[in-house]
Amino acid sequence: MKCPFCSHAESQVKDSRPSEDGAAIRRRRSCPECGGRFTTFERVQLRELVIVKRSGRRAPFDREKLVRSIAIALRKRPVDPERVERIVSGIVRQLESRGETDIASHVVGELVMKALKALDEVAYVRYASVYRDFRETSDFARFLGEEGLGEDALADDGLEPELEPGRS
Ligand SMILES: [Zn+2]
Repeated sequence: MKCPFCSHAESQVKDSRPSEDGAAIRRRRSCPECGGRFTTFERVQLRELVIVKRSGRRAPFDREKLVRSIAIALRKRPVDPERVERIVSGIVRQLESRGETDIASHVVGELVMKALKALDEVAYVRYASVYRDFRETSDFARFLGEEGLGEDALADDGLEPELEPGRS
């Protein structure tokens, strides 16, 4: 497994144990190159899902990408990574149970927003702002108003530049 920090091709498994009530294997890994530590989860994939983007472009569903996008929204928020895995597993199960292999990208986006809304308001607003691709600050303010969220939802620790609204 490639190191997510330095992209070194190899990493070492330090610890391996069942997770999510045996539905997954959790592995603690470390990178011999940069010393970075990270966790991977191994699980059964029931169905090959294909994401259909708004442009009509199709791409295989990438679970890790979904985990990453949620992790970015949750940066510095007090949420256990294992919780994120459970959320993603829940989303994947919902997608798999739709009975179709083709999934419109907005369906995934909406499931993520729903899950984040229940989990962490700040992460929800961050994700929504990126997902909805706000181009104008006023759009963002309107969104916050519609959602009944104050600007203070964003006043916490710094939003990363790539997550700031108003950039395009
Ligand atoms: Zn590394």
